[in-house]
Amino acid sequence: NIPLVLPEFLDRAVRLYGDKQAVIGGDRTLTYHELNDRVNKLSHGLKNLGVEKGDRVAYLAPNTPEMLEGFYGIFQLGAVMVPLNIRLKPDDYLFILNHSESKVLFADEDLLPLIELIRDRLETVQKIIVHYKTGETEDLAYDKWLSAFPAIPFNRAELDENDVCSLLYTSGTTGNPKGVMLTHRNNYLHALTTMHHLRVTDTDVYLHVLPMFHVNGWGSPFYYTANGATHVCLRKATPEAIFRAINEHGVTVLHMAPTVLNALLQYFEEHAPASGENVRVVIAGSAPPPAFVRRVEQELGWEFIQVYGMTESSPLSLVSTIRSEHHELPAETQTRIKAKAGYPMIGSNVRVVDETGEEVAADGQEVGEVVVRGHGVMHGYWKNEEATKEAIQNGWLHTGDMGTVDEYGYVEITDRKKDIIISGGENISSIEVEGVLYDHPAVLEAAVIAVPHEKWGETPHAYVVLRDGAEASAEDIIQFSREKLAHFKAVTSVAFVDELPKTASGKIQKVHLRNAYWNEKG
Ligand code: ATP
Ligand code: MG
Repeated sequence: NIPLVLPEFLDRAVRLYGDKQAVIGGDRTLTYHELNDRVNKLSHGLKNLGVEKGDRVAYLAPNTPEMLEGFYGIFQLGAVMVPLNIRLKPDDYLFILNHSESKVLFADEDLLPLIELIRDRLETVQKIIVHYKTGETEDLAYDKWLSAFPAIPFNRAELDENDVCSLLYTSGTTGNPKGVMLTHRNNYLHALTTMHHLRVTDTDVYLHVLPMFHVNGWGSPFYYTANGATHVCLRKATPEAIFRAINEHGVTVLHMAPTVLNALLQYFEEHAPASGENVRVVIAGSAPPPAFVRRVEQELGWEFIQVYGMTESSPLSLVSTIRSEHHELPAETQTRIKAKAGYPMIGSNVRVVDETGEEVAADGQEVGEVVVRGHGVMHGYWKNEEATKEAIQNGWLHTGDMGTVDEYGYVEITDRKKDIIISGGENISSIEVEGVLYDHPAVLEAAVIAVPHEKWGETPHAYVVLRDGAEASAEDIIQFSREKLAHFKAVTSVAFVDELPKTASGKIQKVHLRNAYWNEKG
């Protein structure tokens, strides 16, 4: 049997697409042959540093060609990649680098100052290699270091498909991040099913908008590489940069968080850039409001696919493409279907269960917890058996997400367990309320949390960012939500803010809103 290990994907691309553009980013363009040469040099270099199979190698960089070569260079040794979120604080880096016991750290020049602040407290890191974006040949500069090693094929470590290849710390949307161990097999099979559901081919030009250090951006290089597609990396994914890259490189596919998509739509409405003739699809998770689906398809003219997943499942397990049985349905109904998280991808079992573990009725009404079993489910949390046992019970990953399932098997995520608002004994989905607020013409962004109420226990409180130049009062917003929702679900108070706290992948961190609310109340 051939083990299902990730270097196979690059091998295939080199054999079949060697002279094709593999990656474009900054002022670097590499063919698959050139990428592979640099990957080999990197593996030789790491070996020279004493990195061995199973050792952790951390990576702190925005999306760059170097990071892509980092993936395969590290895997060839059987080492474990620990990608670091570029928006963390120095103390978070200290925690993760020590917790993961990383031996080597690759760091981008821009981010190095954050590491300098904690450098003397790093317990295991023996070497820091810096990417100089200016290309200066500093002592430790990556390119200079790399040039000392040969491009000849690397004598690969004996790899087993069940070897851990990555330690990805979760987004920390709900609390402290946990280190998720994924194996080669997890990522390999996830790539195979995802490339099928997203219809990836060798004609694809994939724009990395999602950060590669986050699980969605992390998983995508595998299936685009395996198909010999071209990767385009952006250091900073501003709407302007995204549209420029789309038009310059003939991008065909993008994945992004709904908040980034929202910013893109906003930019499109204001500046009317060419919307990219080649773009075939945009993919988003994290509960995009139905209004976004409509706007993407009508204004930008791109197909929209929603996916659902989490770090602990490699990540994807649901996809919302329209199945053939729904092709005849009216456009509006199809939009509603696409606004759901979707149905199980090949290789994933997904159930929605009540507290006794029984599946809820497939009526699109009854709410339960989403549980997942399948080839993507993690090996476990690093050095945290207790949390692993809590998360995986009888082989089922308990996601902490609540949802419904309809007669066609489409799951809709109604909320995170922690974000549900309980008012007068009724459960209110914060996602549903936010979806309505996004329909208000003055609203740019909205997040809804539970706040205490004397009579009802809790009620929905909205944080709203208004569009540039738009006006609305709290009363307007409350009234609007009362018109569109059952009264008990309507928001009862509104706070206008300039921006909402977000993770680096663009998720709104309601935990910070809750903390801010309680701090204000004293
Ligand atoms: P942490 O676990 O550290 O709090 P996190 O859960 O945000 O952070 P991720 O693994 O990046 O970390 O995100 C997974 C979560 O994102 C899911 O559990 C779910 O709550 C949310 N999510 C992903 N896709 C969707 C979707 N299509 N609809 C609704 N929610 C989604
Ligand atoms: Mg989570």
